[in-house]
Amino acid sequence: MVNATRREFLASSAGVAALGLSGQVAFLSSAEAADLREKGYYSYTVGDIEVTSIYDGVWQNDNFDSIATGIPGDDVRSALARAGQTTDYIPIEFAFTAVKTGGKTILLDAGTGDQLAPTAGLAARGGLEAAGVTPDNVDMVLISHMHPDHIFGLMEKDTNAQVYPNAEILVHEAEYDFWTDPSIIEQLPERRRGLAQRIQATFPTWENVTRFDAKTELAPGVRAVESFGHAPGHVTFHISSGDDQLMLIGDALIVPALFLANLDWQLAFDADKDQASETRKAIVAQAVADNMAIGGYHFGFPNMGKIEKDGASHVFLPATV
Ligand SMILES: [Zn+2]
Repeated sequence: MVNATRREFLASSAGVAALGLSGQVAFLSSAEAADLREKGYYSYTVGDIEVTSIYDGVWQNDNFDSIATGIPGDDVRSALARAGQTTDYIPIEFAFTAVKTGGKTILLDAGTGDQLAPTAGLAARGGLEAAGVTPDNVDMVLISHMHPDHIFGLMEKDTNAQVYPNAEILVHEAEYDFWTDPSIIEQLPERRRGLAQRIQATFPTWENVTRFDAKTELAPGVRAVESFGHAPGHVTFHISSGDDQLMLIGDALIVPALFLANLDWQLAFDADKDQASETRKAIVAQAVADNMAIGGYHFGFPNMGKIEKDGASHVFLPATV
């Protein structure tokens, strides 16, 4: 699925070691994780590429009975408890990424823009700046898919004005064409119609938007990989430099305590649940087989680490950063 042979993936284990990912990887203590959330970002390198993970807060989702199709809320609570997480709510945490490559600063998704939940939006409320990212120094924004938590950070809350007017914004053509088709609005479930209307009122009027088809390198060492299912044109981002590589999997898999520990569960808000399940399983199989560093948008914070087999199941081991 990416232009790297298995041999190259295995070689990348050395790169994973450089990230503190290979061998005995320990879970971060909850105190360390809390400190990192407080700081709001951490940086590491993938070869020559500088990567910064930016924390954007959490949505305390209480839809226990409707997050996983056909799975009772009690099973969802049990899965959270098994992972040592709160059972007061489902923690849908947000973290997006900035990379510096080829002299450019590139955002991979844009966060919630402080427009989704009072407990989210930290990036727009000073977190991005603290991480050294300002609208003026962003050259490109690559979009994994056009859900609110990934694109609202591109637009101001009340005016829809662009936050990054000088950046090139890149969206996969399947995703862009889906959401900008005027006839899609009435076909969408009620809860998605406002999103489509907002997209149609903004993106087509912006001159800095480019559609891509995932066949080309978007920036030095940065490729999009088609990972459809969660959204019609959802992509993951493959970052590689020298022997190092990292796969930022977007929403192909969210909340590992639920959907990695239970690979057969389906996420209720995946656009195509069967396709999303296939995509998710393929990514997990590849991550395990190739010992690949993985970053997730909804993995908590730190959101980068590795996926390992855990008996009949799998577990995400966040890197100590
Ligand atoms: Zn998302």
